[in-house]
Amino acid sequence: MSRLPSVRRVLWIATLAIIAMAGQATAAAAEAPMQKTQAPGYYRMMLGEFEITALFDGIVPLDVSQLKNVTETEAAKLLALALTAGDPHKLPTSANAFLVNTGSKLVLVDTGGGTAFGKGLGQASRNLEAAGYKPEQVDAVLITHLHFDHIGGLLNAEGKAAFPNAVVYLAKAESDYWLSETEPEVPAAFKEHMKQARKLAASAAKPYLATDRWKMIENGRLPIAGIRPVAAPGHTPGHTAYEIRSGEQKLLIIGDMIHIPAVQFARPDAAVSFDSDPKQAVATHHALLHRVDGGTTFVAGMHLPFPGIGRVRNDGKTGYVWIPIEYAPLPAKYGSSQ
Ligand SMILES: [Zn+2]
Repeated sequence: MSRLPSVRRVLWIATLAIIAMAGQATAAAAEAPMQKTQAPGYYRMMLGEFEITALFDGIVPLDVSQLKNVTETEAAKLLALALTAGDPHKLPTSANAFLVNTGSKLVLVDTGGGTAFGKGLGQASRNLEAAGYKPEQVDAVLITHLHFDHIGGLLNAEGKAAFPNAVVYLAKAESDYWLSETEPEVPAAFKEHMKQARKLAASAAKPYLATDRWKMIENGRLPIAGIRPVAAPGHTPGHTAYEIRSGEQKLLIIGDMIHIPAVQFARPDAAVSFDSDPKQAVATHHALLHRVDGGTTFVAGMHLPFPGIGRVRNDGKTGYVWIPIEYAPLPAKYGSSQ
C-alpha cells in the first residue's frame, strides 16, 4: 500500500477545509454586526479643582464663501493645508456647549440648538445626561450670544424651560439687540433671517423672563466664583466670552470667535458675513488670540472640532496655530514608559 494519499482523499480534505472556513466567516459576521453609532458626545477634563465637560450638539455645514477679508484662493490654500476634503461650501462644523462644575455650582455655557435645527443639532441635552448630569441640576446658563444654535436648547421638546432651576446670564447689549421692540438695521439680504432669529430668541427667553430668571451681566461680573465674562463683541453686539479660572489654571470659552478654524487661526483678519460688525469681530479675534497665545490658557470654542478644547500659539508671523487637546483618562493615570 502506498503511503501517499490518493487524489480523491486530498480533494475530499480540501473540500472539508473550504466548508469549515466558509462556516467560520458566516459565524463571525453574525456574531459582530457593525454598531453604526458614535460614542456618547462628551469629553471631560479637570481645570484645577473644576470639572469641565464638553458636550457635542451636532454638526452644521458652513460655506467657505461666507468668509470676509480673505480671498477664495487664500482660503482654498489654507483648507488644502489642513487636508480638508469634501465640498468647501458645506464644511462639516462642530457645535459644542460646555458644562463647568465648580464644586458648588453647575454652570452650562450655551445650550446647543435644541429642536430648532432639525436633525443636525440638538444632541447636547442627551449628551449632558450621558455625561452623568440632569437638566434640573444646572444652576446657571451663561450665554455667549443669542444665535439659535446656542440657545435653542434653553427650551425642551414641549417648548418649556429645559433648565427649570437655572438662572440665565447674558450681556445687556445682546439681550437688547435681539429682544427690543425695534428691529436692528441689517443689510437687505439678512432682513428675513433677522426676523426669524429674533422670533426664535424671544421664544427661548420667554419662560425665563416670565420667572425672573433672565439676568443681565452687571458691571462685568457674575455671581459665580471662578467665572468671569469677557466682552467679545463683533460676531453680535453683546457677544461674550467666559474665562474660567481655578487655582493656576485658566480656560477661555470663546463662543463664536472662530467658525472656520483651518482659515481663521492662520488669518485672524478673516471675519464671516454673518458677523454683525466684521471690523469689530476682527479686533476681538486679535485681542483674544493675543490673550491666549502661548498655551498657558486653554481655549474652548463652540464651532471648533469636538471637543473644541485646545491651546493656541502664534505661528511666528501674523497668524496662530490651533493645538487640540489630547484624549486623556480621568483621573489621570499613566502607564510605565519602560
Ligand atoms: Zn454659532
